[in-house]
Amino acid sequence: MAENAIQEGDVVFIHYTLTGNEGQVIDSSQGRPPLGYLHGYRNIVAGLERALTGRAVGDRFDVAIPPEEGYGLREGPEPQPVPRSEFGKDARHLQVGMSFHATTSDGQNLTLWITDIQGDEVFVDANHPLAGQTLNFAIEVAEVRAATTEELTHGHVHGPGGHHH
Ligand code: ZN
Repeated sequence: MAENAIQEGDVVFIHYTLTGNEGQVIDSSQGRPPLGYLHGYRNIVAGLERALTGRAVGDRFDVAIPPEEGYGLREGPEPQPVPRSEFGKDARHLQVGMSFHATTSDGQNLTLWITDIQGDEVFVDANHPLAGQTLNFAIEVAEVRAATTEELTHGHVHGPGGHHH
């Protein structure tokens, strides 16, 4: 590996374009500052993190990540309808694609995504919207620097492109 190769504990900034299998752009950093993450701390999906290990600033590459190393396979039931009234004061602001946290009757915390809204029925899904999909990333490594001690303790990046708190 090159001397400046990306390794665990580096703060890495990437430009990315994510496309689906029909070539549609799902997300892109185009026109935005690059995305910053802390390498080796699972800030990003496992397959992308692995593909970035050993790369260096200026590297450009394409990588196809299977669901198992991306947002997982689809599991459990199809999206379930929930009455809009269950959302209380948030009920007016619901949109397809939004996620929220919920607690099950046995006390488990989970993230749910809204997949559809039909009148007063809101369909929610425990799968990430990209679960079951291959993720096709076009990546450019924009910047790499060493993490601060505080960033390593927190497990994420601070400052521009990272957490502010
Ligand atoms: Zn922090």
